[in-house]
Amino acid sequence: MKNCIFCKIISNEIDSAKIWEDNKFIAILDINPNTKGMNLVLSKEHYSSYAFDLQDDILKDIIIATKKIAKILEKSLKVKRVAMVMEGMGIDHLHIKLYPLYGLKEKFEEIWQKIKSSLRNIMAIYLLN
Ligand SMILES: [Zn+2]
Repeated sequence: MKNCIFCKIISNEIDSAKIWEDNKFIAILDINPNTKGMNLVLSKEHYSSYAFDLQDDILKDIIIATKKIAKILEKSLKVKRVAMVMEGMGIDHLHIKLYPLYGLKEKFEEIWQKIKSSLRNIMAIYLLN
């Protein structure tokens, strides 16, 4: 699609740091990463970035491609997990963001700081609106 930066990357009009590709998807290093090794998995064909409007087979295929790239990142960056984010924002071209999760000692490790709350307090937030 004209004026789509991801389409321009796929057609090599714009340079990218490609680390993987198959016939449907490519993975590139993010040029402004939030963390070392942050990747974008892009469809080679232009689709909207909103996951829940995608055809099932396209959604399934990008998840499977993303899994392959996550396994590459686990091994090459020596991380236990890779986070997958598909919020559909930023560029309206199908993409998934992959964030290597550094610092985990185990595959599953609770590292988030929890906020103490109660069911009543949580529900009150919604009842006020
Ligand atoms: Zn595009």
